Amino acid sequence: MATNRTFTMIKPDGVENGHIGGILNMITEGGFKIVSLKLTQLTVADAQQFYAIHSARPFFGELVEFMTRGPIVAAILEKENAVEDFRTLIGATNPADAAEGTIRKKYAKSIGENAVHGSDSDENAAIEGAFHFSGREQF
Ligand code: ATP
Ligand code: MG
Repeated sequence: MATNRTFTMIKPDGVENGHIGGILNMITEGGFKIVSLKLTQLTVADAQQFYAIHSARPFFGELVEFMTRGPIVAAILEKENAVEDFRTLIGATNPADAAEGTIRKKYAKSIGENAVHGSDSDENAAIEGAFHFSGREQF
């Protein structure tokens, strides 16, 4: 059953380049309600666990290094059909393929440094959100 919640991170490149405000604005303009929000940083173990599904891929080391090099913004978002609609709002993994009007089209530089994460299922949204936020931080 859809929970109507998803989890996102503004990745280190988005934070470094001063795009926290711009990205949060696109998220709220896109009809998502922010129910949890924080600036935090992933440890190497956090990033390895978060992207464990990609551990055999050639870019895994680079991905972990990138995701841990600076602060990220973690957030839980609420909207009807949240997981799927948020994947539409962020656009394709490779910004070269991202549609006009998407967050990655506007803010991502490359397939590796692509500004934002969006959960790929309701199950993962719940796991990822609970990793970063306690129940009392989810409004
Ligand atoms: P995310 O899970 O971060 O929302 P995604 O679901 O669009 O991204 P995935 O296939 O899950 O894409 O890949 C996870 C992340 O790994 C990508 O966002 C990107 O940062 C990195 N990545 C994926 N493919 C490549 C690649 N070919 N080269 C370098 N980095 C890559
Ligand atoms: Mg993914």
